[in-house]
Amino acid sequence: MPELPEVETVRRRLAPVLEGRRLERVEILDERLTRPLAPAAVARELEGEVVREVGRRGKYLVVRFESGRALLIHLRMTGSLRHAPAGTLPDDPYRRAVATLDDASDVAYRDVRRFGTWLLLEPSEVEAYLAARVGREPLERTFRARDLAVRLAARRAPVKAAILDQRTVAGIGNIYADEALWRARIHPLTPARDLGNEELRALHRGIRRALEAGIRRQGSTLRDYALPDGTSGAMQTEFKVYGRGGELCDRCGTPIEKIRAAGRGTWYCPRCQVLGRATAYAASSSSRRPSRSRRQSSV
Ligand SMILES: [Zn+2]
Repeated sequence: MPELPEVETVRRRLAPVLEGRRLERVEILDERLTRPLAPAAVARELEGEVVREVGRRGKYLVVRFESGRALLIHLRMTGSLRHAPAGTLPDDPYRRAVATLDDASDVAYRDVRRFGTWLLLEPSEVEAYLAARVGREPLERTFRARDLAVRLAARRAPVKAAILDQRTVAGIGNIYADEALWRARIHPLTPARDLGNEELRALHRGIRRALEAGIRRQGSTLRDYALPDGTSGAMQTEFKVYGRGGELCDRCGTPIEKIRAAGRGTWYCPRCQVLGRATAYAASSSSRRPSRSRRQSSV
């Protein structure tokens, strides 16, 4: 599923072609995309809106209009967007929506598995909706290791599960969680609250470096991810651990192992990422307060 680097790459490609354009005609072909609202009603509301900015929060693309409304697009498993000059969109059985802009070009939404969503919010709803679901942006300059520490302090959950929770930090999914933990040399099953200051700093750095590497390679192409011009990202050739079971760790040469963590396939290096090291380090300082919340959110 597209994570922060993939969605950010899409955003950067779409912003220059969408910003300042009016949506002349919108067709939504799949009722799952807008439910519980009728697709035709949402399409009608979108027609005439002028795009002020194409933004991103976590894994949401946030298309902000001059009216103050915003269209939140979540690609989920297999959603992708394609921009094409007038009349050049190729046929596609998985097309779920098309917006024609006032320069006659088209933006098409494709989704094989149909888990993606389009949600049109009124001006007063946008920030509250996002604030309830999405934590801090990890690549913002003002996001510090201590912000991460605060979010993890009372969490009994394994650190992998904790960083997949979108309210801990925005935009991390299964791929970049594994990549960040490898960079930080932290075992994915380490209880989040047991991480010491040194581990927290390493994790903060690991998250940022893993995400930045993904953006530099224009995301990773697994399944149906594609850029708006139909090309693909190349990050999948540079994964350190994700999907590399049995291959050798770049750092120490030990074979990468696969386990399950947070219900997800999880890859790590058993020599670089030792379970218990962080626990021992933090034993003297960790409190025994109960976890504030065990709920997980994977939006
Ligand atoms: Zn290693």
